[in-house]
Amino acid sequence: MKSEKLAINGGSPIIQDDSGKFIHPIVTPQIEKAVIEQMHSTLSIYDRSGIFKDFEDAFAEYHGKKHGLVTSSGTTALWSLYDSINLKKDDEIICPIYTFHATVNPILQTSAKPIFVDCDKTGNIDPERIAQKINEKTKAIMITHMWGYPCKMDNIKALSKKYGLYLFEDCSHAHGASYQSKKLGSWGDAAAFSLQGNKIITGGEGGIIITDNNEIYKNCVLHGHFGKRTKQEIDPNTEDFKYAVTGKGLKLRAHPLAIRIAHEQFKSLDDINRQKNEHVEIIRDYVSNINGIELNQGYADSVNSWYALILKLDKEKFNCDIELFCKSLNAEGGVEFDIPNATSPLDTLELYKKPSHFFKNYKDENLVDGEYPMSKKFSQSIIKMPVWYRKEDTAIVENYGKILNKVAKIYEKVN
Ligand SMILES: *Cc1c(COP(=O)(O)O)cnc(C)c1O
Repeated sequence: MKSEKLAINGGSPIIQDDSGKFIHPIVTPQIEKAVIEQMHSTLSIYDRSGIFKDFEDAFAEYHGKKHGLVTSSGTTALWSLYDSINLKKDDEIICPIYTFHATVNPILQTSAKPIFVDCDKTGNIDPERIAQKINEKTKAIMITHMWGYPCKMDNIKALSKKYGLYLFEDCSHAHGASYQSKKLGSWGDAAAFSLQGNKIITGGEGGIIITDNNEIYKNCVLHGHFGKRTKQEIDPNTEDFKYAVTGKGLKLRAHPLAIRIAHEQFKSLDDINRQKNEHVEIIRDYVSNINGIELNQGYADSVNSWYALILKLDKEKFNCDIELFCKSLNAEGGVEFDIPNATSPLDTLELYKKPSHFFKNYKDENLVDGEYPMSKKFSQSIIKMPVWYRKEDTAIVENYGKILNKVAKIYEKVN
């Protein structure tokens, strides 16, 4: 049987035009109209009103939460969460080693210390390994639902309850996902979502916090807001109210245009995720014929948001390394196939190996206190792709499946 020639070796690519590019967000006429309306209304919102209130209410309600607070970014949303629990020197926060670095970075702005935990075979933080790292200094657990795959929240929630720890969720990949029929972002004491340009719901830049906890909410307001919003929201009978003019002195306010854009997309979130699930099934069918590639499996009872579809490669099964495999997929017109190097385990980062370069309170500490073999293995064996979310993009998804089949066939080891 004669096999086709790979595009990377001069063969003809499966996708011949630029249709393999993932365009996100889709700027609909509704978004255009809303943005123009917003520009003529206001471009800076000082208190909890207008589009801030609309989006905070809608987003909180969707998750069954009491409070929503929009922020300038996901990173600042996370920072406010860490700041909200009154951390002291030597307090410890349990965090995933395998996450985007912004999940953990803001801890360095507090007096606490991140304690890293390895992942399991899903790529998410391993509940059993969390248990091993809890001690009397532990104050909180931060988890990330990586790539939109839900963490094992029943076990993690049970741990946080048992030891009296705050539980925070970084839901920046997980808009609309759920575990055991409960929305991600509603499991812990509070959650942060990024609304940055790549994220499922986006305003270009922005973030949002949701919580039921009045104290956390109030502290987040004080952390990044001042003047009208603090005066409106802080109880006048408290000591905090004396600080309403300044808050804690930072301004982490969102941009109204960003929030307006995010709010328009948010209206379609469930439809987006439903269509993604159909497209994932197409890829699953293609991959089921390939010996050596599998879709990363999450936990049972998960509804994934498919921020990215994660393909796991078994190197032993192919005559090439993962880099060449990915380049070959790209050459076929599957330009979005990607080895996510920007999201490699945090033990590789100078910021954690030697934080004292910027943060004097860490002295000579190395915050990387061990080996994280599962994260290393996971991150070195995956290729990700986006999941298109409009019916009219099904043909692109089919082509991505064909590309996987073609490239895998040619590199397949035959024995
Ligand atoms: C994007 C992202 C962040 C940071 O969000 P920004 O809005 O870019 O500041 C944090 N955590 C994760 C997991 C992310 O993907």
